[in-house]
Amino acid sequence: MTTLELADQIGEERAAVVSLAREFARREIAPHAAEWDRHKEHPREVITKLGELGFLGMRVPQQYDGLGLDALTYIMVLEEIAAADASIAITLGVHNSLTCGMLLERGTEEQKERWLKPLARGEKLGAFAMSEPESGSDAAGLQTQAAKVGGKWVLNGTKGWVTNGDRADLFIVLARTDTPEERRGSRGISAFIVPADTPGVEPGKAEDKMGLRASRTTQLLLRDVELGSEHLLGEENRGLHYALHALDRGRLGVAAQALGIARAALEHAVAYAAERQQFGRPIKDFQAIQFKLADMATRVSAARALVHDVARKLDRGMMKSADASMAKLFASETAMWVATQAVQIFGGYGYMREYPVERLFRDAKVTEIYEGTSEVQRIVIARGLYA
Ligand SMILES: Cc1cc2nc3c(=O)[nH]c(=O)nc-3n(C[C@H](O)[C@H](O)[C@H](O)COP(=O)(O)OP(=O)(O)OC[C@H]3O[C@@H](n4cnc5c(N)ncnc54)[C@H](O)[C@@H]3O)c2cc1C
Repeated sequence: MTTLELADQIGEERAAVVSLAREFARREIAPHAAEWDRHKEHPREVITKLGELGFLGMRVPQQYDGLGLDALTYIMVLEEIAAADASIAITLGVHNSLTCGMLLERGTEEQKERWLKPLARGEKLGAFAMSEPESGSDAAGLQTQAAKVGGKWVLNGTKGWVTNGDRADLFIVLARTDTPEERRGSRGISAFIVPADTPGVEPGKAEDKMGLRASRTTQLLLRDVELGSEHLLGEENRGLHYALHALDRGRLGVAAQALGIARAALEHAVAYAAERQQFGRPIKDFQAIQFKLADMATRVSAARALVHDVARKLDRGMMKSADASMAKLFASETAMWVATQAVQIFGGYGYMREYPVERLFRDAKVTEIYEGTSEVQRIVIARGLYA
């Protein structure tokens, strides 16, 4: 097959997968997003159905029961899901990018067989527990301790803001493997595979959030959790390095989520501006509104171009941390800005829960906070300039 033929084939496959995601999102997710937001949860059934489509193993190669999609297709799928409901997009994003991503990159064959395959088939849901109440941006400051006792690891600590926290079947947990007497900072942290049914593992307080209310965010309590050596992921004391690497990919996923939110806000604003009449004409006839819509559309296109460019870099093995940070920074700030303009275009109705832009506005904000705040992304980007 020639390179061009191969590109055509990939293009067709990508279009088919993305259109499947779009159809599913429009039919099975978007009509329920407002209700799920009100009830602060989504039915497990929707995740099961996404799993049946293969969307819980998007980047996992077929040999481990995944779809084996490239990064560009993956982020295009996430955009489609996020345009319908950003809460479902983060549920999928954490599972695919962080849980499956770390198992795929760092797991042994036995670990992949035992834990990655059921995740990729959508039989189990994953989560990623790095942050703690006292350490977010400063991840190296985490305090959850994993002590070696006999041939086992014993974990104790409290994790904060765990997406899928009370829904997940399996957690990737970051814990200290240095001793309290001899702290080694970022080089004293390891990654562990922690099944949710291990004695001592319990979801803590469920957070009452501003946005993404249909996604589950809880504390994770670890009390004398005993794990065999087969639960250590990769090498001892390399966990933070692995997590930061996985977070580069996670950040690209959050960028795609932000793009979906921004696109949805733009689409709602365009439709509303054509319907809403004031002074005897649709508000889209006013230049003030036209210019807002024009700026929104331009920023959404620019964000998409950047996010796709970075995904292509990842597919070519050329993505740097700063690239992922740029994509997340720009897309998340675009989402917040575009959602703000959309609320303005809706006027008083934009401030009401019954209209979708109010939810999009609330959902957009967190994309500037999690998987590294915008300040942290700027630190990474600036560091890259001097690397
Ligand atoms: C809805 C939601 C879901 C989440 N899901 C997960 C999850 O699944 N797993 C997980 O591990 N974590 C998760 N998190 C945690 C998230 O990643 C952290 O909230 C985030 O990294 C910020 O940490 P922090 O909240 O402790 O803020 P802090 O680190 O306390 O930051 C507070 C402020 O100080 C700024 N700041 C901090 N350090 C610096 C610095 N060096 N220079 C300049 N400014 C700085 C920050 O940018 C921010 O503005 C989630 C959070 C939310 C809100």
